[in-house]
Amino acid sequence: KQTAKAGWNLEQSYANLPQTLFSIIKPNPVSSPELLFFNDALAETLGLDGQELQTDEGIAVLAGNEIPEGGTALAQAYAGHQFGYFTMLGDGRALLYGEQITPRGERFDIQLKGSGRTPYSRGGDGRAALGPMLREYLISEAMHALGIPTTRSLAVVATGESIRRETAKPGAILTRVASSHLRVGTFQYMAGLRNVEELRILAEYAIERHYPEIADSPDRYLQFLRKVIEQQAELIAKWQLVGFIHGVMNTDNMAISGETIDYGPCAFMDSYDPKTVFSSIDAQGRYAYRNQPLVAGWNLARFAETLVPLLDEDQEQAIKMAEAELAAFNSLYDSQWLTGMRAKLGLYNEEPEDKALVEELLELMQKRQADYTNTFRALTIGDLNGSGLLGTDEFPEWHERWQTRLGRQHETKDDVQELMRLSNPSIIPRNHHVEAALAAAEFQKDYSVMEQLLEALSNPYAYSPEQEAYVEPPAPSNRPYQTYCGT
Ligand code: AMP
Ligand code: MG
Ligand code: MG
Repeated sequence: KQTAKAGWNLEQSYANLPQTLFSIIKPNPVSSPELLFFNDALAETLGLDGQELQTDEGIAVLAGNEIPEGGTALAQAYAGHQFGYFTMLGDGRALLYGEQITPRGERFDIQLKGSGRTPYSRGGDGRAALGPMLREYLISEAMHALGIPTTRSLAVVATGESIRRETAKPGAILTRVASSHLRVGTFQYMAGLRNVEELRILAEYAIERHYPEIADSPDRYLQFLRKVIEQQAELIAKWQLVGFIHGVMNTDNMAISGETIDYGPCAFMDSYDPKTVFSSIDAQGRYAYRNQPLVAGWNLARFAETLVPLLDEDQEQAIKMAEAELAAFNSLYDSQWLTGMRAKLGLYNEEPEDKALVEELLELMQKRQADYTNTFRALTIGDLNGSGLLGTDEFPEWHERWQTRLGRQHETKDDVQELMRLSNPSIIPRNHHVEAALAAAEFQKDYSVMEQLLEALSNPYAYSPEQEAYVEPPAPSNRPYQTYCGT
């Protein structure tokens, strides 16, 4: 069988969970699938045969027309707070084939997104438009290359069918690879059913899958909460450090694994402004750049609530235990953020004034509307012309204090440069380049623009000459930039 040759090595641990957590679905075939993007490196890591997967038989699997050997097709149930409001949800346009076991023994969900209607689709058509699927592929792979935990993208297949949005759009299916799709919302769903035994099974499953090191601890549910809090503190700090704005941090879009998940209206900040919001539907700025740590804390509180029945027989005691864990989030986040900022400024050791030094730079950047990425890039390469900060009185003052601070550590100039290069990306997926790549693909069927952008973004810390083409911030006429929860 062709599908076996492609290296599929699927297991079904999720499908063995209580049936309340999913629905087995019938695939919804598409008429003429065409493979547009394929991630050879990721295929290899997964133990998949890239060549076989790019044959008609292989593509049939990536299009949802044929289930791979050992696979099943199921939609996962979950709930979530969307912009603060609780809703029962589920995969409305995705299907899970199962978990691919890699040659190294790792386990990854293989999910199709845009694969058609499911019992959770409500009014939706179960489909996805090409533009947003290319966007997820591009940005998730860029995030991975930046060193930020994230779901990955294996392929984008055009369905050959058009779907109805404001206008007719070409349909597409993304193959998403994740260490799991367990969400805060998965636990909210189970907690909503008020079935403590099944909740316990779900928690045991998540612990076994993501935090096996605590599986034998008598207080493992509490430790599980602590782990998820730690992972999120680390993740959100990494977002802030590169200027990534997720845009739709609903609890169903927060993964228990600590990976970034669900690339919708996300975008990278250009000029530094903590109030930055790109998503057209986020009128209140709930998910603005500066709010991301706060929202993460809020989401984690919703997660903690779901675990209360498991934490202690005495429920009042259980609530106190959960609150004590949640209280640690802010300081965990702050310390991750400050550690990252020190590295961005080339600081190897710690001094009490470091936080102020960072904050004053950020204030200057905000005042001058300096480009976030390029300011750190300029400090890294020591060419301040690109910083947008020259010509102010305050900047030379700040710069001198930074230099003096660098002088108080033992590391050499080269050491400082090395740390800064590892901590400050030379390029990010700039909004205007992302848009240009997607437009060329969607309207000209020219995929080379995106291929080149992907290539440049595959090593964002390279500081190579080829990357210069992607450095320029957008022209003022391209702002304010808006993203759409494009589906
Ligand atoms: P999101 O805002 O991307 O996290 O999506 C929220 C929910 O809406 C998820 O349960 C999705 O499966 C569902 N959804 C989004 N688009 C569609 C669609 N075109 N058809 C059916 N369900 C959808
Ligand atoms: Mg989602
Ligand atoms: Mg989405």
